[in-house]
Amino acid sequence: MLVGVPKETKVREYRVGLVPASVRELTAHGHSVLVETGAGAGIGMTDEAYQAAGAAIAPSAEEVFSSAELIVKVKEPLAFERKRLKPGQVLFTYLHLAPDPEQAEDLLASGATCIAYETVTSPSGGLPLLAPMSEVAGRMSIQAGAYFLEKAHGGLGVLLGGVPGVDPGKIVVLGGGVVGTHAIHIGLGMGADVIVLDRSVDQLRALWRQFGRPLNTIFSTRDAVERHVREADLVIGAVLVPGAAAPKLVSAELIRQMKPGAVVVDVAIDQGGCFETSRPTTHDDPTYVVDDVIHYCVTNMPGGVPRTSAQALNNATLPFVTAIADKGWRRALEDDPHLRRGLNVHAGRITHRAVAESLGAAY
Ligand code: NAD
Repeated sequence: MLVGVPKETKVREYRVGLVPASVRELTAHGHSVLVETGAGAGIGMTDEAYQAAGAAIAPSAEEVFSSAELIVKVKEPLAFERKRLKPGQVLFTYLHLAPDPEQAEDLLASGATCIAYETVTSPSGGLPLLAPMSEVAGRMSIQAGAYFLEKAHGGLGVLLGGVPGVDPGKIVVLGGGVVGTHAIHIGLGMGADVIVLDRSVDQLRALWRQFGRPLNTIFSTRDAVERHVREADLVIGAVLVPGAAAPKLVSAELIRQMKPGAVVVDVAIDQGGCFETSRPTTHDDPTYVVDDVIHYCVTNMPGGVPRTSAQALNNATLPFVTAIADKGWRRALEDDPHLRRGLNVHAGRITHRAVAESLGAAY
């Protein structure tokens, strides 16, 4: 199969659909890969690295879209890219179609078969192509928090790990799912006092088994949130209620009661955020201050570390890309019910029930 990788076109999107190591796996399976020139530049992967992995380099995106049978991307195609899609072509990427009727209309009109990363499922019930980005965001949340806790960056002037003879910083993690687990891992690794609050006792048990006594696991009630957030140096917002906006666990009044110079990192901002005072920010201007508390609310945190993120995403997508290329999309989806859940658009119809319901479209 001819697999095409165009350069991403969204502003400040540096990731790429296939890294050279993935290209090498596909060419070893007998497939051809056509990569737009410069597609990997944002993560330091040159055209030469792609050629060494067996790819051919296309001078333009048009050439990739006009010849590839399977297009592998990261972000949803923008309007001008959607016009390039053809009937029979397969698109595999993040689509996030539910809130985007314009994109849905164009994809339906294109005649292409569109498989969305975010609706592919796993046997354990998770979302395997979203999880790597949650892992990245969770780990990065502590790095960002530590940076903004420094005095020169406006923070309290606290070293999360402390030093012998001085208390470490106190990190409160709201929500102990994928983001929370990875935030805890880095927080404990830095030597901070870490407290996780979750309303799933099973999840707290799993975290207790994983991290042992150094982690404090607390059942999430209003009372517990207030008590721990008030004393925190750094709070990570990592809750998710599937299919719903994030619950506002921390009120504006509670923010007012925090230490001046404390930092909150609202990873859940892409679902509206779990602090009442949160509003989306960007990597260019990641923070703002409310009542002397620094708020970091970047909606696409993995975009800040595209080299790591692109590789993590490829690790998760490559088995599916390989299956589609080896078997053709129809057999690959017949053989794998989890990949089948990724099918969002085919032959001019929305083929995912929840996406169709959100769009008010026929299913
Ligand atoms: P997850 O489902 O793995 O974990 C969410 C956890 O929140 C669960 O353990 C759940 O029990 C817990 N929870 C729900 N309601 C709660 C409550 N009231 N109190 C305490 N805990 C509660 O989800 P995840 O993959 O860790 O993602 C968390 C959030 O981070 C999501 O909104 C996701 O979209 C977002 N995210 C943002 C970025 C970014 O760049 N900003 C990147 C990746 C993920």
